[in-house]
Amino acid sequence: MAKILLIEDDQRIRELVCEHLASEGHSVSSEPTGMEGLQKATIDSPDLIVIDLGLPDLEGIDLLKMLRSVNDVPVLVLTAREEEDVVLAAFEGGADDYVVKPVSGPQLSARVNALLRRSDAGKNEKIVVGGLEILLGPRRASMNEVPLDLTTKEFDVLVYLASRTGTVVSKEELHSAVWKTPGGSEGRTIDVHISTLRKKLGEKADDEKGYLHTSIGAGVKLESPNG
Ligand code: CA
Repeated sequence: MAKILLIEDDQRIRELVCEHLASEGHSVSSEPTGMEGLQKATIDSPDLIVIDLGLPDLEGIDLLKMLRSVNDVPVLVLTAREEEDVVLAAFEGGADDYVVKPVSGPQLSARVNALLRRSDAGKNEKIVVGGLEILLGPRRASMNEVPLDLTTKEFDVLVYLASRTGTVVSKEELHSAVWKTPGGSEGRTIDVHISTLRKKLGEKADDEKGYLHTSIGAGVKLESPNG
């Protein structure tokens, strides 16, 4: 059983979704506006949040960013909007999954359960590469026991690379794994994130003793300088 918060202004959908998820054994609460939802999310610490992007008081994307700034709870976006730029903006804003209404009960449950499984599995996991330590549950990373102050995406990039230590990961692969959209002309986004990550790790671009190694045209790999 998980504690789920639904933020949706359409009363009919709210009732349907609440009923359905409650029938699956989850404890579900709902709020009709972005501000009320945000407040509830802060007080209640739900295990998962389902949000509608078309809310009366707040742009869903802004709500998503506000939620992300307070915690890392999995967020499923449930919306009538299916335009590519809206979908991309939602993932960029921190959504973990996106589903277009109308959605069947079984599909909604499947998506909710998949997100919950992923976040549960990650709670106690730790990745260690040399002096780099990453705690997946609380989403904290440190280098030689000094905490790293990373953005959500920087953290995700670091996790992806660290879980493939010693392997060159292409920008396309990294982009589709972290931004959950296929990589095309987004190489620049990756470059920027790698560069800020490198600075935060205290390395220079051609640092032999560093953890991050970029191969022009191939991608980037992370490995311990001490082997
Ligand atoms: Ca709505």
